[in-house]
Amino acid sequence: MPEEGFRYGDVALPVPVDRPFTYEFPSNLQPHARVGCRVWVPFGKRRLTGVVLRLHNETPEQETREVLRLLDAEPVLDSELLKLGQWIAEYYCAPLGEVLKSMLPLSGELRQTTVYSLTEKGLDAARQLILDAPVASLLQLLEERPRSAAYLARKVEGARTLLRDLLKNGWLSAEETQQSRTRRITESQPPAKSQRPIPILNADQQTAVTAIRDALHADQFQTFLLQGVTGSGKTEVYLRAIEAALALEKSALLLVPEIALTPAMAGQFFERFGEQVAILHSAFGDAERAEQWRRVRSGSARVAIGTRSGVFAPIQNLGLVVIDEEHDGSYKQQEAPRYHARDVALMRAKEAGAAAVLGSATPAVETRYNAEQGKYRLLLLPQRIAQRPLPEVQIVDMRMEFLETKRQTIFSRKLIEEIERRLAQREQTMLLLNRRGFSSFMVCRSCGERLLCANCSVVLTHHRRDRRMLCHYCGYAEKIPEECPKCGSDYIQFLGSGSERVEETLQEQFPSARVARLDRDSARGKGTFARILESFREGEIDILVGTQMIAKGHDVPNVTLVGVVLADIGLSLPDFRAAERSFELLTQAAGRAGRGDTLGRVLVQTFNPDHYAVRFAAQQDYDGFYQKEIEFRKWLRYPPFAALANVLVRAERQEQALRMASALGVFLNPPPVGVRVMGPAEAPVLRLKKEFRYQILLKAASRAVLRRIVNDLRAFADKEKWNATALAIDVDPISFL
Ligand code: ADP
Ligand code: ZN
Ligand code: ZN
Repeated sequence: MPEEGFRYGDVALPVPVDRPFTYEFPSNLQPHARVGCRVWVPFGKRRLTGVVLRLHNETPEQETREVLRLLDAEPVLDSELLKLGQWIAEYYCAPLGEVLKSMLPLSGELRQTTVYSLTEKGLDAARQLILDAPVASLLQLLEERPRSAAYLARKVEGARTLLRDLLKNGWLSAEETQQSRTRRITESQPPAKSQRPIPILNADQQTAVTAIRDALHADQFQTFLLQGVTGSGKTEVYLRAIEAALALEKSALLLVPEIALTPAMAGQFFERFGEQVAILHSAFGDAERAEQWRRVRSGSARVAIGTRSGVFAPIQNLGLVVIDEEHDGSYKQQEAPRYHARDVALMRAKEAGAAAVLGSATPAVETRYNAEQGKYRLLLLPQRIAQRPLPEVQIVDMRMEFLETKRQTIFSRKLIEEIERRLAQREQTMLLLNRRGFSSFMVCRSCGERLLCANCSVVLTHHRRDRRMLCHYCGYAEKIPEECPKCGSDYIQFLGSGSERVEETLQEQFPSARVARLDRDSARGKGTFARILESFREGEIDILVGTQMIAKGHDVPNVTLVGVVLADIGLSLPDFRAAERSFELLTQAAGRAGRGDTLGRVLVQTFNPDHYAVRFAAQQDYDGFYQKEIEFRKWLRYPPFAALANVLVRAERQEQALRMASALGVFLNPPPVGVRVMGPAEAPVLRLKKEFRYQILLKAASRAVLRRIVNDLRAFADKEKWNATALAIDVDPISFL
């Protein structure tokens, strides 16, 4: 009787080579191999874990090596996820094996288990002998595929003793494998459903929910942009949409930005959906992550909530995908494969025929453009809940402050006065710095002039060491000016002060105030972030200083003052999205004020009070901002009017990095039709992790053109035998650091 199963498997390996490798399965594994299972294989002198893409009996032309181990009894990536991986590999020009590796459940989500399978002898025995009932039903189960002891114990009485006997007889073989954990995790048990009343939707929410529900019923892929001002009740719309999906026996995926996945946020979902919620969070321990992954995969949790990589959750029967704060930069992975979880989620929804909801108060320009073009349906929530007014935003002109006080201060007199008032009234203040402030730029303290590149509309970065002002897009450089090129004053400053200094100054200024700082440095410890936020919520902190971490999502009713210490830092980043990011951040920050019953106030300190991002944010006018910004993008051919890819070369030796950069420069000269090549130029951070980096920005008229040229570059690097990691390609880059 011939063995069933396949002899060969094409396996995707996490190596920067763009094709699968064929391996032969030893005969005992042939019946058990499945597409989507992981295998352990020899590769050169190494051994790697790969994913089986295809099984077949076509004798390969080249000699093949044997699979060492089959790691899963069940596929860890189902056909839907494999297909999604293929799309990511193509779209982001990344090797499939690397993409699949990042989609696999984290190692903690799987653990070693022993599985039992039938030997030849066992197989014969099962077919020929008349056996006692328990032995037969055992053996029957194993004829289908290898099983774990735990599984068998559940199905057959006395399985553990039987197993021992059968192993001794030589009917069974045991093999170590990885299986998803089944241990019950208790630490993270969700709080019980509470009795908090479910609010009655207002008319705008109702319209939104109805539209989404209709799409769910139609079983068709459709994307909605739910654009609602801060505090307009977007979360309630998500909750109702998820409820509708569950009612149709479908599952839902909710993605939230990295920093938004707080216990308070998750709590809202537990309250409504209880045990059906799974939280996918990289900050959880191995055991807990494994448990959540398993619950999603088995369908016992039909609401999966996660950050970026949650988009790969093993959800079955996906009906609804919600991406909260869709404009958030943390959805883009900054290392290979450089995917954008929002765009991947939309692709996933499309393949599944699911409804997709993108939610934001400040949608990405590209997203809103898609809505304008009719690709997405726009659902608006223009009002705050209970007609609560939007906070009043006042701009503080720091040029005037300097001229009047003749002092360089971090805090204007106005801001100090307002903070004092809050302290006296026992109300709380949030102070926002838009960046930790690593990059330094020039600003004239008298007229507010910032030094721009001659070729690009970006600010030049101050390079102290080589005493130049440099454009990080095109490489343009000029001398550091001694006086302001606009007004001739010599009050030139290089800005970029960090949150630490602000905290210190604040403590000096208000010795009795309870001040805390929340940024990436201070929140490094496990749980610190949540702890600081919690004590702020509890009123144990008067003033919270922080980076963008504090700007989003956190709903603290007693905050009546939000101060933006220096709006200019964000405006001056060497990035065409600088204005958009600043607008977003200022609007989100303003949205933190006045969430309770007291009217909130926002003070924005800036040297550029006339900048459109500052002005429109102060007026909370997204449409105004969008109109202006989309013109600018069109004019300069930036997304959504062009497809971008950032091509980075890196090497430990600077000469080598330079040589590769210029080789690419030559290769791209003349540029292919429909492509603009900017660079090569030094990367904004020239040396990172011991490597020197140079970059080329490609702007293409269409995606097809972009993909072709990027693939040509990869082939070129391959031909030149560059080190595998020398060339890094970022399609749809959102950061140029
Ligand atoms: P957004 O996410 O749009 O900023 P939230 O979802 O945080 O807004 O909603 C603001 C507050 O209003 C929350 O406390 C929420 O529970 C509450 N809320 C939402 N919808 C309603 C409603 N229809 N009636 C009363 N309160 C509501
Ligand atoms: Zn000046
Ligand atoms: Zn430039």
